[in-house]
Amino acid sequence: MSRPRAEPAPRRELPPSAGLPLRWSDFAGSRAPSLSERLATLVGVSADRLILTCSGTAALVIALSAMKQRSRHRREVIVPAYTCPLVALAVAHCGLQLRVCDVRPGHFEFDPASLRGLCGPRTLAIVATHLGGRLADMDAPIRCARGVGAWVIEDAAQALGARHANGAAAGTLGDVGIFSLAAGKGLSIYEGGAAVTRDGAMARRLQAAAQELLPRDRWWESRRVLELIGYGLFYRPSRLRWVYGDGVRRALGRGDPAAAAQDVFSPRIPLHRVGRWRQAIGARASLRLPEFLQASRRRALMRSSQMRGIEGVQVLGDRPNEHGTWPVLMLQLSDPAAREQALKRLWGAGLGISPMFAHVLPDYRYLGDAVAPARIPNARDFCARLLCIGNSQWLDDAAFARIVEALQAVLPRGAGGARIS
Ligand SMILES: *Cc1c(COP(=O)(O)O)cnc(C)c1O
Repeated sequence: MSRPRAEPAPRRELPPSAGLPLRWSDFAGSRAPSLSERLATLVGVSADRLILTCSGTAALVIALSAMKQRSRHRREVIVPAYTCPLVALAVAHCGLQLRVCDVRPGHFEFDPASLRGLCGPRTLAIVATHLGGRLADMDAPIRCARGVGAWVIEDAAQALGARHANGAAAGTLGDVGIFSLAAGKGLSIYEGGAAVTRDGAMARRLQAAAQELLPRDRWWESRRVLELIGYGLFYRPSRLRWVYGDGVRRALGRGDPAAAAQDVFSPRIPLHRVGRWRQAIGARASLRLPEFLQASRRRALMRSSQMRGIEGVQVLGDRPNEHGTWPVLMLQLSDPAAREQALKRLWGAGLGISPMFAHVLPDYRYLGDAVAPARIPNARDFCARLLCIGNSQWLDDAAFARIVEALQAVLPRGAGGARIS
């Protein structure tokens, strides 16, 4: 995947997803509401059922630890084969065994038959994952888990504010739901997260696990405070290249797509309490989240309809009655070669294009023993045909036109499949 970098770095750098931009008033406003309470209100649970954490990964560690304590003989955690590598690191951190499951053709949600095949008496939890604001089916994982006495974790790290077809908030259908407040994932305190549950007993277990596993840590919190200030300063097209785009281009230049997709993480997961100042910043910004999500949705629906005419591009959307969020537009291109060509032209071009995650889980070499090889043809195909467009407020008509033009140039035309290069 080496990429000749003859072109100069772009003047404007668009983000790969729509993060809620911070304002100066977020940093120094008057009395702030509580972030936990704000998040609980957003997802419709009472405040004692939500545990604020220092990351989505930490929320997953808390959830798995609470579940592990209740079901000591169960050691396996089933996750979709195409998901964030941090999920694999969280499972390894808890001393549990990862089982990667294939997905439905052309989607990221579990293939029900594969899932049934993996579920058994050793299954501790099934992690069902929403990606890019699009909702995954929860029926199959819930049914499989109930059938074998396992738990369901709903990974809504990329779907805070989304609603299922039955009206339930994403994150509230599983036994535990997790959210991420990382940079770029909608509402952000640079690194943060939450675990939610509807069950009182589970809430107490999560609280106890958080008490034990998330100590105060001045060093980590100070570092995150500085990073959050940096996020406030640099999250805009005129400055984003310094903290994001240039790094992507360097990684692409040395042929490292995992680094370019920002998929390479330390196995040492920071676990600490979130300080009051960052909580207050997140709480103030969260007041703008509903309106921000509405605006993202309007933009996404307009861009989706503008892409409907392009042969060989399918935009993943909501199913009837679902109400997802739109940090990115997820495209499935008709074939992997076209996707490679599209990435060559667009990834690192300052237009907010990325593959989301570079690989399926077993293909990250740095994860090593944490992920065993598995037969996952559909996940490989989904990964190889995925292209994401960051749906930020800065994706204007001119930038979008450049993306469409590049897609049209690389896609096979008509039934003959003649390619224009
Ligand atoms: C980002 C992400 C996580 C982890 O969240 P962090 O806050 O970055 O630790 C988990 N699952 C998915 C699907 C994610 O995208």
